[in-house]
Amino acid sequence: MMFDKILIANRGEIALRVIRACREMGIRSVAVHSTADSDAMHVRLADESVCIGPPPSPQSYLSFPNIISACEITGADAIHPGYGFLSENAAFVQIVEDHDITFIGPKAEHIRVMGDKITAKETMKNLGVPCVPGSDGGVPDLETAEKVAAEIGYPVIVKATAGGGGRGMKLAKTAADLPNAFRTARSESKAAFGNDEVYIEKYLTKPRHIEIQVFGDGKGNAVHLGERDCSLQRRHQKVFEEAPGPVIDAETRNRIGNICADAVARINYIGAGTIEFLFEDGEFYFIEMNTRLQVEHPVTEGIFGVDLVREQIRVAQGLPLSFSQDDLVVNGHAIEVRINAEKLPNFTPCPGTVGMYHAPGGLGVRMDSALYGGYTIPPYYDSLIGKLIVHGRDREEALSRLQRALSEIVIEGIDTTLPLFDGLLAEPDIRAGNYDIHWLEKWLAAQG
Ligand code: ADP
Repeated sequence: MMFDKILIANRGEIALRVIRACREMGIRSVAVHSTADSDAMHVRLADESVCIGPPPSPQSYLSFPNIISACEITGADAIHPGYGFLSENAAFVQIVEDHDITFIGPKAEHIRVMGDKITAKETMKNLGVPCVPGSDGGVPDLETAEKVAAEIGYPVIVKATAGGGGRGMKLAKTAADLPNAFRTARSESKAAFGNDEVYIEKYLTKPRHIEIQVFGDGKGNAVHLGERDCSLQRRHQKVFEEAPGPVIDAETRNRIGNICADAVARINYIGAGTIEFLFEDGEFYFIEMNTRLQVEHPVTEGIFGVDLVREQIRVAQGLPLSFSQDDLVVNGHAIEVRINAEKLPNFTPCPGTVGMYHAPGGLGVRMDSALYGGYTIPPYYDSLIGKLIVHGRDREEALSRLQRALSEIVIEGIDTTLPLFDGLLAEPDIRAGNYDIHWLEKWLAAQG
């Protein structure tokens, strides 16, 4: 089943990313957009476009009937969801399939399993993936919580099973903190996700965030594409990502990579997926799996020289993976920085009209962005406006290239997070790859 036309149920840089892959594969692309995005770059670059509603996402980018209708009207064979929006919505996937449209992504069942953190952890544990020590499933009351926490040993973290975006997570350093942590995690989770089930984990004090990229063909074959180190985070939002990880050697990569590839092969997983771990003292601890393409996928593309979106489209058409595990050899080092339309130092969102825009270029530089001079960034959506990705023969070269590329970018008229990266590159810890998941917040606090 070869696709003639793919509808992209997304906007911004990721919509462009998918349109580009479609064009290189000779597949026509359909952009969908809200009325706030009529002048957006993804609408200009796609072969066709359909307006799917007013600015608020629930009435446009999240509207099942509007997106399915756009597919029917344009005769698209498949939907690529990008990341965010409907990319991990099992109910949407089911409805897409009921309409004989192909969803370019995993099966609804896998999205559902990995979307519930307790089920995800249980599934991964059974598949041989190392997990953070913690409660076996949900913790129904404070009495049980106290018993479990005493067994694991403090500090512990109470987490929402329906959690996401760092919400519904509370730290208890000692037994005295537990009643409050347990209560607030539950109530926050109830408010944010309509589900107050929580579980308990050992709290790791200085881990790195290391995630493994996996890819399956849906027929029991899967490979891993190494790791990304995404430890530099602010409020659980990644800002700087690199591959390979500065502290992961080839043997460690193969060990954890093969565990992950085997796990997803055994469940007949199809497409791109990311298995996220905390990494401390040489050990990996599974925290969650994302059943979609991730924002930071280009650093993996950089070091392996593969096109992950093309591969997603291929396996969705029933084709085999275009690479074997042996073909996947790490080549050099890649770094991505996220450029947000936000004003420092408080990261206040600041949409507005872009004046002059000049993208950096040259050897080993990739700029994924939907910006153009004169573009007005609407206030309704994510503040990510671009990703600068550099590749070098080694980490040192990638860092120099990043610094050089940053010196070329011009984005006038709005505030962005770009100045942050000049500051980071001046830090010996960043130069040395010496950072954990708390490094950035501490550094930002010290900047005053
Ligand atoms: P979410 O889906 O809300 O992002 P995650 O389970 O992915 O939640 O965790 C988000 C972040 O919270 C992690 O990257 C890490 O910084 C922190 N975290 C989660 N679990 C633990 C833990 N057991 N110990 C220490 N930090 C944790």
